[in-house]
Amino acid sequence: MSGRRSMASVMPRPAAWLGLGLWLAACILPGTAGAVERSARGELKRVLILHSFGREFRPWSEYARSIKAGLEQQSPWPLDIQEHALLTARFNNPGPEAPFVEYLRSLYQGAPPDIVLSIGAPAARFAQRYRGKLFPDTPMVLAVVEERLVNRSDLTDNDVVVSARNDFKVVFDNILHVLPGTKTVAMVIGASPLEKFWIDEVKRELKPLGNRIDLVWYSDLPFEEILKRAAELPPHTVLFWGLMMVDAAGIIYEGDIALRSLHAIANAPIFSYQDPFFGGNTVGGPMQLTAETSRKTVDAVMRILGGEKPTAIKYEPIGFAAPKYDWRELQRWGISESQLPSNSEILFREPGIWERYRWQMMLIAAILLVQTGLISGLLHERQRRRVAEVEARQRLAELAHANRYSAVGELTTSIAHELNQPLGAILTNAETAELMLKASSPDLNEVRQILADIRRDDHRASEVIRRLRSVLKKMPFEIREVELNETVREAIGLVKAVADGRSIALTYVPAFADLRVNGDPVQLQQVVLNVIINAIESVSDEAMKTRDVSVSTARAGNHAEIRIADSGSGIAAGELEKVFDPFFTTKPQGMGMGLAIVRTIVEAHHGTIAAENLPSSGALFTIRLPIIR
Ligand code: ADP
Repeated sequence: MSGRRSMASVMPRPAAWLGLGLWLAACILPGTAGAVERSARGELKRVLILHSFGREFRPWSEYARSIKAGLEQQSPWPLDIQEHALLTARFNNPGPEAPFVEYLRSLYQGAPPDIVLSIGAPAARFAQRYRGKLFPDTPMVLAVVEERLVNRSDLTDNDVVVSARNDFKVVFDNILHVLPGTKTVAMVIGASPLEKFWIDEVKRELKPLGNRIDLVWYSDLPFEEILKRAAELPPHTVLFWGLMMVDAAGIIYEGDIALRSLHAIANAPIFSYQDPFFGGNTVGGPMQLTAETSRKTVDAVMRILGGEKPTAIKYEPIGFAAPKYDWRELQRWGISESQLPSNSEILFREPGIWERYRWQMMLIAAILLVQTGLISGLLHERQRRRVAEVEARQRLAELAHANRYSAVGELTTSIAHELNQPLGAILTNAETAELMLKASSPDLNEVRQILADIRRDDHRASEVIRRLRSVLKKMPFEIREVELNETVREAIGLVKAVADGRSIALTYVPAFADLRVNGDPVQLQQVVLNVIINAIESVSDEAMKTRDVSVSTARAGNHAEIRIADSGSGIAAGELEKVFDPFFTTKPQGMGMGLAIVRTIVEAHHGTIAAENLPSSGALFTIRLPIIR
């Protein structure tokens, strides 16, 4: 198998051409080879990397990537890194390795690399087995290999081991710490010889947890079947991702494709102990760090290339680093941060909406704050207005009540007159009836007639009293549906006698249809009463020849209209607007409050009142109130 920069494959870099040229020269001119080679080697270092399964198998691929980057970064010499992958490790039943060995031998015969770096246990084994044939004197670094898989018996003084130590008990203790309810762990692991080795190891190490969790092994299943099962795991189950190089059906899984498909379908969290699987698919926990292995491996390679003896370079097996977790997975599986061990690190934390849109959020918050302030201010203002309105209405009701008293005061004569009339008639009729009954044969029919008259007059008198009472009733402002024609009729009933007494023609022409408005009936009656009394007063002057007061109601669009016209001398020019001002009066005994109260009441009913002079003579007051239907 040829590597990316192998001599046998794709275009080498200029440095490689130079290496090739020198190598050819060394072969052709054996006498001078040593000197040429030494001077060239002083510059260029050839590193042979042996991969275990292929170059894209996780976790090794990630270790290799990191090591290569470290080498390129730290090497003071130009490097020629040649990579080969040991395909045989993939096969459940490894085929003959001889042709591959032969290929390498022909490649490196007489020109061995400066150092051999094996990635993973199968590559280490291979290098140890065939080093005699391939590159007997080349120093070797056996990297990314678990302590248990290091073949110590075949190690030489020319070798450095950068091994790791996987403690599966620690991994599973962590799972139980993070998810204490876990009852079952579904073990995802492939079926290659290396993977099989680990099955037995893991089983042995986890024996102490035997009565706490059930381990369900998926190693005999094709990966397709594993995916199906992982989608329907019972509650309190988690998945343990060991390795998936080759499944039971012999299918090879490169990169992290298998893990990604498992993550997409699994209904349980996935745990692993390898850094290269962390970051998107697994929850996390204690794990082997790529960086740590890579740092030591690069260190070993550099020291050897610098001339240090491999025997002098020794490393302790690398253990798990402090646990780290993927914040997104913690969220997904509802694992609280308080569940994690105290020395944990949480990565991939997604910035909250506050961090991501900081100034926008602050702007929104500020707007909301201002808005809230405004709203509460407005609500407060509204509340205050309501209270003020209720108070104002109350005061209006009281003022109106006082005003009604004064209006009734003005009506006293008329009321007395109106009461006197029926009472006088009753007296006269009663006396007449008495006289008739004294007769020898009284005309009973006539007496009956007289009694009926008495009853009618009594009714008239009590009607006067009722109307008066209703006007003088002290009631709070109360809105209800009012029929305006009727309200006006009642008001006219009250002042009719006054008009009669002053020889005033008071006429009323109501609208044909009902005029329904929302209002306080007593207040509205007072409005009409006040305006009519003013009208009556305006025509009461003895010098007046025509004394007409005409009242009418009508519908005008969405409004009910009450028109009160008189034949008086009208309102002086320039005073038309003033008549509604409080205390404006032209009368010697006037208070100037009548029309002010009228306007306030009308406006409280969402209506309007206007005064104008009629072309003939006299004034016209028009009251408009919104109609409801
Ligand atoms: P007062 O009747 O106590 O004067 P009002 O507020 O009822 O108080 O009326 C204010 C003034 O408006 C009256 O003094 C009068 O000058 C004028 N006025 C009201 N109605 C008429 C009317 N129909 N014709 C002429 N002037 C009027």
